[in-house]
Amino acid sequence: MPYCQPDLDLSPPVSDEIRKTTCYMCACRCGIDVHMKQGKVAYIEGNRDHPVNKGVLCAKGSAGIMQHNSPARLRAPLRRTGPRGSGEFEEISWDEALSLATDWLAPLRAEAPEKLAFFTGRDQSQSFTSYWAQNFGTPNYAAHGGFCSVNMAAAGIYTMGGAFWEFGTPDWDHTKLFMLFGVAEDHDSNPIKMGIGRIKARGARVIGVNPIRSGYNAVADDWVGITPGTDGLFILALVHELMKAGRIDVAYLSRYTNAPVLVNGDSKSPEFGLFLRDADGKPQVIDRNTGKLAAFDAKGVRPDLHATHRAAGVTHRPVMHLLAERYLSPEYAPEAVADRCGITPQKIRAIAAELARVAFEEAFTLDRTWTDFRGETHHTMTGRPVSFHAMRGISAHSNGFQTCRALHILQILLGTVEVPGGMRFKPPYPKPAHIHPRPHSNCAPGKPLDGPHLGYPAGPEDLCLRPDGSPARIDKAFTWENPLSAHGLMHMVISNAHAGDPYRIDTLFLYMANMAWNSSMNTSGVMDMLTDKDASGDYVIPRIIYSDAYSSEMVAYADLILPDTTYLERYDCISLLDRPISEPNAAADAIRWPVVEPDRDVRSFQSALCELGARLNLPGFVTEDGGQKFADYADYIIHHERKPGIGPLAGWRMGEHGLTHGRGAPNEAQLDSYIKNGGFCVQHIPEAAQYYKPWNVAYQDWAVQTGIFDAPQPYIFELYSEPLRRFQRAAEGHGDRQPPDNLRERIKATMDPLPIWYAPLEDGHVDEAEYPVHALTQRPMAMYHSWGSQNAWLRQIHGHNPLYLPTRLFEQHGFKDGDWARVTSPHGEITVPVAHMAALNPHTVWTWNAIGKRKGAWALKEDAPEATRGFLLNHLIHELLPARGDGLRWSNSDPVTGQAAWFDLRVKLEKVPAPAEAHPVIPVQKSPVGQGADTLAWKVGK
Ligand code: SF4
Repeated sequence: MPYCQPDLDLSPPVSDEIRKTTCYMCACRCGIDVHMKQGKVAYIEGNRDHPVNKGVLCAKGSAGIMQHNSPARLRAPLRRTGPRGSGEFEEISWDEALSLATDWLAPLRAEAPEKLAFFTGRDQSQSFTSYWAQNFGTPNYAAHGGFCSVNMAAAGIYTMGGAFWEFGTPDWDHTKLFMLFGVAEDHDSNPIKMGIGRIKARGARVIGVNPIRSGYNAVADDWVGITPGTDGLFILALVHELMKAGRIDVAYLSRYTNAPVLVNGDSKSPEFGLFLRDADGKPQVIDRNTGKLAAFDAKGVRPDLHATHRAAGVTHRPVMHLLAERYLSPEYAPEAVADRCGITPQKIRAIAAELARVAFEEAFTLDRTWTDFRGETHHTMTGRPVSFHAMRGISAHSNGFQTCRALHILQILLGTVEVPGGMRFKPPYPKPAHIHPRPHSNCAPGKPLDGPHLGYPAGPEDLCLRPDGSPARIDKAFTWENPLSAHGLMHMVISNAHAGDPYRIDTLFLYMANMAWNSSMNTSGVMDMLTDKDASGDYVIPRIIYSDAYSSEMVAYADLILPDTTYLERYDCISLLDRPISEPNAAADAIRWPVVEPDRDVRSFQSALCELGARLNLPGFVTEDGGQKFADYADYIIHHERKPGIGPLAGWRMGEHGLTHGRGAPNEAQLDSYIKNGGFCVQHIPEAAQYYKPWNVAYQDWAVQTGIFDAPQPYIFELYSEPLRRFQRAAEGHGDRQPPDNLRERIKATMDPLPIWYAPLEDGHVDEAEYPVHALTQRPMAMYHSWGSQNAWLRQIHGHNPLYLPTRLFEQHGFKDGDWARVTSPHGEITVPVAHMAALNPHTVWTWNAIGKRKGAWALKEDAPEATRGFLLNHLIHELLPARGDGLRWSNSDPVTGQAAWFDLRVKLEKVPAPAEAHPVIPVQKSPVGQGADTLAWKVGK
């Protein structure tokens, strides 16, 4: 009998249709293919053509389907009916919701626009939300960068015109040694995983510097388990070793940095420490061709790193002298820093030697001709195959700005920024501080603000101070307390608003920021501030409007909820005006679009703002006859022009001869073109313009042509930061604007124009013997911020979070896995389960952040592990440092940028009997969306 092969269909169609959009399960913005069956989302995979992820999808990305189906999704606008914090609401219509918001906000705009504080969390539409706030006229706007990684961003921009992630990335094609510091796995997630995979396949080495060996550090060839808060000291010891051995790229320093720029060396001169400039204001160098002074960028000039200049009795010395004097000092020798960093001198020397060996002995050239900004043509590009990456781990300390500067200086001394094999910028970066806007804060009734809120001060004249010297902003950004707070201080808004310091506000308007839980320091204190009443029985913060897609802890504290959509139900633009998806060889932007329509009465927050802006008669949101200018966010994306020809999306604009990318008039069909192209647009950089971008004439011309710059902007890297020096000079008693006396010494000490290291400020406020242990949190790779906590798939990976202890502390306290510890800081205590982890700095404990949830939030059941065993370290961290008897309370922030110093935390531990659940136990909130079902099961399609 013949054998019959069954007729198997080995590749059944898995969907009727694929819709290509952009993932939002973390901030990496990977391209996704959303497979649809009968109009419903069936599953999600990576888009193979997408510039960010090239088809790679992580666990979070594929679990987006469960986010979209989450029982915690808000379903309609809500008005609070019970006391704040109770979670008692009634559903109202959008018309009622927007009328209420208009009734609250219109009088503020007419009388005192600063009484609105509008802060957004992790949204990716900041160029839009800031535009709205600017039109409203309040100075009180920022996003969440102040509690995330502003130190990394600001230090990068002040030093070299960009930093990591959206700004820059390793040259994965050529790098041979990759060193990463303090990186949580959620930032630049898929791109780094792919990059590490590629370079390891080529035999390149990875060095991970992190107190905790997890994630990328777990796959590093070499793990350096540094003591928290000492990265800057370690980096400056590497600088010391490289300079001592003469293993620095002298030609690069001379050509592309301010190492040869002359600095006034007369301590009696009012210009002491500032650059010698010509009549046009150009910093001066000595030209090796002539031995004479010349502007740093003069045609054909060859800047001298060594020569000094004496005029009118004042000696001017090149920055290179100051660098040598500072970093050859024995205080940065490996032996001097080893104990403090927890790294042996031998190890420090070995890493310095390896960095130098790879940078200089494995140097290579690419045969590409290019012309620099001084007019010199080069026929090759020299590669130095060492690259770095760093993120919140080194920046969320009170010494983080200077630590990030130190890391950038290390890269520059090795000559490995924007060269083959090194760290490369992504358009619209590089973009140095002096071509960014300055901060603006002048407001007047009924008028827009006088300019963009956020920016990069060049000196005291750019601070946001009122005529009496008090802070102009509720978060005290851009004041003497934190002059370079380029992203604002979201973590101080509620505390300052509650204290009425510097003034009282009326309405707190928040988007996507879980400030009543994991996005705040002092979580319980913040909940109290949000519910506190004054003597007349009114809330101290009178009104709170909040927009979120999910029933987060913060929802219960708002008076009015504007329910947002999920990321699969909305238009978005990932814009070159904001945080695009560019690659080093291309400018790229992308969209999201509604691959499914919402099945609830929700609207994208940005669309709601378009209507609210029109109801409030905001100039940018109404037509000349007073009608609503943008029907919704999609309409804004297509039609808004930031300046003629430049809009939120650069692709498929209307040029003189038809469709074009870059500059062009609005195109009605622009979003359709993006959808047809897979949701993104890429503009490739010509080959001769791909490296040396800050100095490469071809890149500068390309950037002008594509609308990134209006004119070429070549510049040199700032090893020595003159803006910082200007603040220091003010603290020394010069100029019209000087700091209050109580801040003079701190400004002198911390705003050093060359990177320094100082101990985290909490160390000076806390008895280190009583609180000997460092405590950290990290984002889990499988879950992004709080959004994964109601995701049925991701919850199975992290349902609760133990406190991980290193072997030394685990044994010292006699713990077994599953035991419980009381963890106490100067601010509070928590009681939590512990687990042993050997690959951990011996003085450090840590846990995953945002796993712990409040009962009643996120549609979880009250006995969910997130609400019983999960916990937050935030309860132990205060937004102010402990009092130290000087009559002042100092902000727990970096004194330069105001970045929240989450990772300065010190604690003590003790073993305690296991309680029924983790402490503190916060009372249950009522859930405005009920609870999820016991089991979830459905089939999409037949
Ligand atoms: S890395 Fe982030 S953006 Fe990319 S697939 Fe994963 S969750 Fe989505």
